[in-house]
Amino acid sequence: MQDLYHAIRDVPDFPKPGIVFKDITPLLLDPARFRRAIELMAAPFRESGVRRVVSIESRGFLLGAPIALLLDAGLVPIRKPGKLPAARGRVEYALEYGTDALEMHRDAVNHGDDVLIVDDVLATGGTAEAAAKLVRAHGGEVVGFTFLIELEFLKGRDRLRNERVEALLHYA
Ligand code: AMP
Repeated sequence: MQDLYHAIRDVPDFPKPGIVFKDITPLLLDPARFRRAIELMAAPFRESGVRRVVSIESRGFLLGAPIALLLDAGLVPIRKPGKLPAARGRVEYALEYGTDALEMHRDAVNHGDDVLIVDDVLATGGTAEAAAKLVRAHGGEVVGFTFLIELEFLKGRDRLRNERVEALLHYA
């Protein structure tokens, strides 16, 4: 696992002062490590009957796509407003200042589908929580979340306390 940590680059003060951005692009450049990360992120959900892998814009797409193939599940993008072309549902969620929104195609998840939600980083958990809300509003059953990175000090797991949350790399 240690060599996966070495494939994550810390970029201080991006996108604004005080934030240490976890840059996953070195991992994406390394096929052996990238493959291992994907396999380990998918592993806990191999027997969960996942029908849809919902991935969150934009770095979630890079991880969600190969995980969906591994789990033999359909891939669903959740996007920022105005990006998806067909009929879509929307959820709004609070940010530190103001609100943001996420959208998903209405026909992407069917009633009763078991859904796995994928993103690169679990920070405060607000984005993941909103994604789950959107999936459930469409009748999907959220079987869990899988993240590459968990920023434990931001306590996102507390926000998702009734959910099954898996994360590969932990930063205290
Ligand atoms: P949150 O809603 O606070 O859990 O934030 C999660 C979203 O913001 C994810 O889609 C991440 O890609 C992104 N994110 C938050 N913090 C970081 C960070 N330190 N480095 C990279 N991405 C981050």
